[in-house]
Amino acid sequence: MSAIRVRFAPSPTGELHIGGAHTALFNWLFARNNKGSLVLRLEDTDSNRSQESFTTGIIDSLHWLGIDWDEGPEQEGLYGPYRQSERLPVYQKFINQLLATGHAYYCFCSAEELSREKQAAQSEKRDYHYSGRCKSLTSEEINSYMAQGLRPVVRIKSPESGITIVHDLIRGQVKFDNSLMDDFIIVKADGWPTYNLAVVIDDHTMKISHIIRAEEHLSNTPKQIILYQALGFDIPQFAHVSMILAPDRKKLSKRHGATPIRELREEGYLPEALLTYLAQLGSAGNDDVLLTIEEMIADFSLESVSRSPAVYDIDKLNWINNQYISLLSTERIINDLSDDPQIKEWISNNGQEYLFKVVALVKSRAKTLQDIIPMADYFFNDVFAYDAKGSEKYFKSAAADFLYEVMLLCESAQPFSAKEIEAQIRSLAEKYEIKAALIIHPTRLALTGRTATPGLFEIMELLGKERCTVRLKRAIEFIKNLDI
Ligand code: GLU
Repeated sequence: MSAIRVRFAPSPTGELHIGGAHTALFNWLFARNNKGSLVLRLEDTDSNRSQESFTTGIIDSLHWLGIDWDEGPEQEGLYGPYRQSERLPVYQKFINQLLATGHAYYCFCSAEELSREKQAAQSEKRDYHYSGRCKSLTSEEINSYMAQGLRPVVRIKSPESGITIVHDLIRGQVKFDNSLMDDFIIVKADGWPTYNLAVVIDDHTMKISHIIRAEEHLSNTPKQIILYQALGFDIPQFAHVSMILAPDRKKLSKRHGATPIRELREEGYLPEALLTYLAQLGSAGNDDVLLTIEEMIADFSLESVSRSPAVYDIDKLNWINNQYISLLSTERIINDLSDDPQIKEWISNNGQEYLFKVVALVKSRAKTLQDIIPMADYFFNDVFAYDAKGSEKYFKSAAADFLYEVMLLCESAQPFSAKEIEAQIRSLAEKYEIKAALIIHPTRLALTGRTATPGLFEIMELLGKERCTVRLKRAIEFIKNLDI
């Protein structure tokens, strides 16, 4: 069997999003699982929309995710160049071949003529197909148009009847009616091939064995098969991966989940969490399990890729990210956050050691690394306001008495440690014959302003006696004022 070679072929007309990263990952897992090669090819022939900054961004995001490639930019190989904008001479050879063998022809129809054809089709309520008017131009006519300076496009002669079958490894046989296809343009008037032709020539000359890409390209595949046949190329295997839909089952949009990988990185998602999430998205297998890269590679098969669309579920991504954050060392978290101005300020005001203890305490509750900053806030800033619902629930007048007792206990606890504080609060609860929660909840609210935090006793130890006392006193005043 010939070598397994796959490719990820982004167009640098935007940033790498969840959808693109999903396609890249499936190609990468398939290549690594089969000891094959992954090619990164930049489809940058649309000079109006392609930008070098997007190329750099896509490459950065892939590096950050840990998806590496064997050939492509930064990784020269035998079948380059790997940017379409540098491949015109390669395309030219095959364009000439298609013209010489009569599979393609020059078309000089002007935009006005084509729009007239379209309008006629519309008024007769039939689908528009190019009429094929230029199919039978003689070489004299062609030469004379050229001599007039007209720049033709090139069209492929597509079959008028029959069906084209795409054998898709995920979707099975997908049939397309050839009569719906017209003589589509394969070379633009500026001499550059259109997407379908460039992709076919690239995939053939780069010896790609499996084309794994997003489902949105399935409808292009019959056109590409016509081109493979016209060029006499072997047809590779196809696998069209289902779309990822927004939670409302619409197409992912900027507003709904189509977040650039760069943004997810900035928000504090970890690459290992994104890879785990994306590997499970649209693929049957270990759900809700944290996988190592090796396990992801070993588990991957195109057979287990689902035919139905996957739904982007931020809660699941958050859950996975939280699991990975809990496993991370506190050093690495602080290191990852070290550029943040707030973190810098906290280190300079309170010292590295205090920050370290705070992060170690809150990290297991964080959904993203950035979450840690607001979660840690009350360790660095005094508390003057209280969660409204919590205040309604826990700041009853009796709470003032308990908070007063806790304040006294702060004085007597020796050492001021979580263990000692816990023991004292529990014996206080026994003394009053109440549940410890009746003391713990208002104390938490008084010290943090919140109702959900890590363990109260650990928080108290970290805050220290002074801060606790000041905050408890303030909360008692607050409760008294509520009663007036
Ligand atoms: N350049 C295309 C895109 O970014 C991918 C083409 C392909 O995979 O065939 O959607």
